[in-house]
Amino acid sequence: MSAPIYNFSAGPAVLPEAVLRTAQQEMLDYKGTGFPVMAMSHRSDTFLSILHHAEQDLRTLLNIPNHYKILFLQGGATTQFNMVAMNLAHGFKTADAVVTGNWSRIAAEQMQRLTDAQIRIAALAGEGSDHQSLPAVADWDIAEDSAFVHFAINETVNGLQYKEVPKLSDGLPPLVCDMSSEILSREFDVNDYGLIYAGAQKNIGPAGATVVIIREDLLERCPDDIPDVFSYRAHVNRNGMHNTPATYPIYMAGLVFRWLLAQGGVKQIEAVNKLKAATLYDAIDGSGGFYRNNIHPDARSKMNVVFQTGDAELDKKFVLEAGLRGLKELKGYKTVGGMRASIYNAMPLAGVEALAEFMRDFQRRYG
Ligand SMILES: *Cc1c(COP(=O)(O)O)cnc(C)c1O
Repeated sequence: MSAPIYNFSAGPAVLPEAVLRTAQQEMLDYKGTGFPVMAMSHRSDTFLSILHHAEQDLRTLLNIPNHYKILFLQGGATTQFNMVAMNLAHGFKTADAVVTGNWSRIAAEQMQRLTDAQIRIAALAGEGSDHQSLPAVADWDIAEDSAFVHFAINETVNGLQYKEVPKLSDGLPPLVCDMSSEILSREFDVNDYGLIYAGAQKNIGPAGATVVIIREDLLERCPDDIPDVFSYRAHVNRNGMHNTPATYPIYMAGLVFRWLLAQGGVKQIEAVNKLKAATLYDAIDGSGGFYRNNIHPDARSKMNVVFQTGDAELDKKFVLEAGLRGLKELKGYKTVGGMRASIYNAMPLAGVEALAEFMRDFQRRYG
């Protein structure tokens, strides 16, 4: 038997093997209906039931109260940058954006294109000389009458993540959060948020569906004159069926939700995620400086672990040799370089342990 392959891709990312096996079994004939899920009307009772169960299981996993609506939209998190501004900032003078890395910077730029409200930068990630850190929530400079405060809780590219899940005190604008690369990885209180969105391809399923969780009262803000396909209200009013949803990705997301429930839910997976992240950061910190991660301990991501040797040629060699040992997709993002190990929910602890072992072995040979 060949050694297992571990996929550290940042996204589209690893999926639980059990989920893929179920999908394989159900590929040609979904539960005796004679239809493949991929070739089934989105209005059929069978698909409506798949959608309903996916939604209910997500509600259970995240404890989502009934006054929050769940949508599975298309267009990825990137489309949400624009939809958030179009739908929620209408009639406001300002909206606030916290910029802590690649994705929240792009979000702030893109939000400005579709609203007359001025996008204020409420906080910027500190670029310390020897380490990067995140601006404390208490230091965000929020305008009380802003439409919302947008931030990305885990910066996938930079490997920065808020250690405590941010929340704002009463009387401040609703928090809007890009949770693409960490949703379902740890417990948090949905009630602290106005809107949450997440592209599926990191921690939920294959690319093509984007989860949006929106507090009902915010739907009243959606302007009447924007195209329906960009309107949260139109999507909610038509029960997510304004146009054909991404049926297969929704089915796959539903399988992942069921898998997660079978693991014991978010609380259980959070404990595993902590252990996985600690295993890699220990390998980095225990290397006597051979591997470096220059992010403040309070801001280190438990989902995307970035590290480097300080020598670009050696980094290349690391990625190449790791790949030959079945440890795949470890190359850092093009603007960051070095290595990045994305260790979402579906990455087993054994994969992380294999990587830590390889790191020690590589250091013995090249350190
Ligand atoms: C991947 C990612 C995005 C972009 O998602 P798309 O689905 O490609 O639009 C946005 N934000 C975060 C935090 C991400 O990780």
